[in-house]
Amino acid sequence: MDDTFRAMRVEEVAAGKYDQQIELRRLRDLPDNPLLLAVSHSSLNYKDALSAFGNRAITREYPHTPGIDAVGEVVEDKSGTFEPGTQLLVTGYDLGMNTPGGLAERIAIPETWALPLPSGLSARESMILGTAGLTAGLCVEKLLEAGAKPEDGEVLVTGATGGVGSIAVALLAHLGFRVAAVTGKLESAEFLTDLGAWKVLDRETLAPFASKAMVKPLWAWAVDTVGGETLFNVIKSLAYGGGVAACGMASGAQFQANVFPFILRGISLLGVDSVELPIEKKAVVWEKLAGDWYIGEQLDRIAEDISLEQAPEFLARLHRGHGIGRYVVDMAL
Ligand code: NDP
Repeated sequence: MDDTFRAMRVEEVAAGKYDQQIELRRLRDLPDNPLLLAVSHSSLNYKDALSAFGNRAITREYPHTPGIDAVGEVVEDKSGTFEPGTQLLVTGYDLGMNTPGGLAERIAIPETWALPLPSGLSARESMILGTAGLTAGLCVEKLLEAGAKPEDGEVLVTGATGGVGSIAVALLAHLGFRVAAVTGKLESAEFLTDLGAWKVLDRETLAPFASKAMVKPLWAWAVDTVGGETLFNVIKSLAYGGGVAACGMASGAQFQANVFPFILRGISLLGVDSVELPIEKKAVVWEKLAGDWYIGEQLDRIAEDISLEQAPEFLARLHRGHGIGRYVVDMAL
């Protein structure tokens, strides 16, 4: 039996210099985990770009195969949990970090990382969403749990053309919210209005807030995918009782803050993690994304389908912050 499969491999070719190639690997190269999946689609996330360019906080050892998302059919499950042929969806945990990831035609993982593909979503659609969609869904869930309602006022989304940002824009608009989308790519304003954004703002709009302790209230709620100084600029411009779902660090991990927005306006900082979230909680959000939160044709607008061979080029784009929407890796292309 031919047990070879294609995989993207990242190698440190010189100190601090990383190269990405598509290679043929063998099943015996995969870790000894019970569940073997034949991956039909994967997707590209910011974290994959970090792994592909040698970020040791994400991936300790190279050579390595990134890919934190995968969908595909069960080839074999030694745990006895899933029947061969069942379509399963995997996002997060250690996949693509230090376990060989979804940018490959085969993955071997613990069965506890996988969920049956929700009915109502195709394999491709599940990867248009992927970790980005799950994270956007979790951000929206946090805001709704905090009491967000469309009549409260505008919801700000930062990093709006990115994977998490674009799905958050589409999902919030689908749920009736007026979305103010913040982007560094004003040339993509039409992409954002087509997704349902009420208005599109230049990233620079928030920059002058940095020198002020507080600014006048501008938005009721927010989803921040950017982190760094932007996160606190968002916090200080939220209206009384509002909150921000914070999930990202595309511009940086550190920010300086003061207590005024929290003690004078009762603002909530709502942290979101999609990686280590228990699988049952992931399943609840996936059912929503396949059900009431299904964003229909917007998924096609957000997606670009690429081959495994194109993954290195598109990861470089994500690494520079130049990605738009979601990149789905179709193993059949
Ligand atoms: P993408 O690369 O698809 O999008 C990031 C977007 O952020 C860019 O497209 C850009 O959008 C904006 N951006 C990039 N650099 C800067 C900068 N220097 N300053 C301000 N804005 C910038 O990434 P993802 O959507 O996949 O991920 C977004 C963030 O969320 C990442 O930090 C990622 O690590 C994090 N994340 C966290 C998860 C969790 O579980 N907490 C899960 C998934 C992602 P624009 O040009 O429109 O401003």
